[in-house]
Amino acid sequence: MSELRTLYQEMILDHGRHPRNFGFLPNANYHQDGFNPLCGDKITLQLQEKNGIVEEIMFEGSGCAISIASASLMTELVKGKTCTEVSEIFSLFHQLMTGERVLQKEKLGKLTILSGVVEFPARVKCATLAWHTLKAALANDQNPVSTEIE
Ligand code: ZN
Repeated sequence: MSELRTLYQEMILDHGRHPRNFGFLPNANYHQDGFNPLCGDKITLQLQEKNGIVEEIMFEGSGCAISIASASLMTELVKGKTCTEVSEIFSLFHQLMTGERVLQKEKLGKLTILSGVVEFPARVKCATLAWHTLKAALANDQNPVSTEIE
């Protein structure tokens, strides 16, 4: 287990240092800002949705390794998925982050490397920031997302 944990930490650090899908997305039809004031994590998410499918997704931002790694892993996972699948994954990830038993863990793919975060409640908001931002983006919510406003 400790070896697995070390591997997970390395993967988180790798995504934190070298985030995937990082940058500006031209022709995005949804964009959303998200902020986690407790840690100072900020992200801007841009995505291109067509016929109910997330065709392209990119993000920019700054924050701790967990917030950046989570956003990076999220963009990898949701690209090419339908909005319905995305909201299903969101629910499963939420279960993972609240310490609930996740029945369809395989649908979370690499996101399970973030499962250790649940032991550090203050960091859960770092890991979920990108997801709340994505949910608001797809809902076309114009208000910036803050983890401190429900
Ligand atoms: Zn953070």
